[in-house]
Amino acid sequence: MDIKQFIPLAPYTSLQVGGPARYFTEITHESEVPEALGFAADQSLHIFILGGGSNLVVPDEGFPGLVIRLSIRGIDWTDDGDSVTAIAGSGEEWDAFVEAAVERGLSGIECLSGIPGLVGGTPVQNVGAYGQEVSETIRSVHAYDRQQKRIVQLSNAECSFRYRTSIFNTTERDRYIVLRVRFALSRDGKPAICYPDLQRYFAGSNSRPALSEIRKAVLEIRTGKGMVIVPGDPDCRSVKLVLQKIRS
Ligand SMILES: Cc1cc2nc3c(=O)[nH]c(=O)nc-3n(C[C@H](O)[C@H](O)[C@H](O)COP(=O)(O)OP(=O)(O)OC[C@H]3O[C@@H](n4cnc5c(N)ncnc54)[C@H](O)[C@@H]3O)c2cc1C
Repeated sequence: MDIKQFIPLAPYTSLQVGGPARYFTEITHESEVPEALGFAADQSLHIFILGGGSNLVVPDEGFPGLVIRLSIRGIDWTDDGDSVTAIAGSGEEWDAFVEAAVERGLSGIECLSGIPGLVGGTPVQNVGAYGQEVSETIRSVHAYDRQQKRIVQLSNAECSFRYRTSIFNTTERDRYIVLRVRFALSRDGKPAICYPDLQRYFAGSNSRPALSEIRKAVLEIRTGKGMVIVPGDPDCRSVKLVLQKIRS
């Protein structure tokens, strides 16, 4: 495990502001988590778990503890008949995962196209948009439990998903580090067109839109509202819903 010092955090966030992390490490495998936590404990450091930094405001003074960036990659797709189970590493780009599901003809997350961030951040605030939420397809969350000091598997019910909340940002805040997320996606599932913007987009169309058309529509609608991160476009430099400030 490589622990760096005084690493600027601004480039790791969509807002591109804020100071440095006193210590910073990037984790690519779950086995590295205990070592990173051990380092923080030995030095009496607070830790902060960083995903894609798209819901984060870093103060100018930075963070005096250890920032752990989750970069666990890999997606396993398993055919279960009518559905497909996808277990995605917390460090996978969320939108690339959505695109891969749509390309495979799997429904359930197509309306969540274009949302910035990594897979591991999605259960934290039960990411949702255009009529879908990840809680509808998440079957379980594999996480490191800092209380029990071991990897646990939390069922959908145990995550207590509500509108933009879960145990991860409410009752059990700071307890779990999300390592992988297991989704159940439908084959031949009906694409979701329940949101007014999408209904307007497809008004007048006689045939049922393909998943790829839903994804294209969502991306177009979001781009029109500055809700897709486009490098160099200041309109998309926003923090949605939760202003999550790094605490010392
Ligand atoms: C332009 C724009 C559009 C957006 N649109 C939407 C939208 O339509 N719907 C919506 O719901 N959100 C939206 N968001 C918010 C944001 O994209 C989501 O909250 C996203 O899931 C954050 O993921 P992240 O990886 O960037 O997390 P970060 O910003 O890095 O972290 C956010 C919080 O989650 C915690 N966290 C992150 N990863 C983990 C992990 N692996 N384990 C434990 N805790 C972790 C962090 O500690 C922090 O508390 C938008 C943001 C922007 C900038």
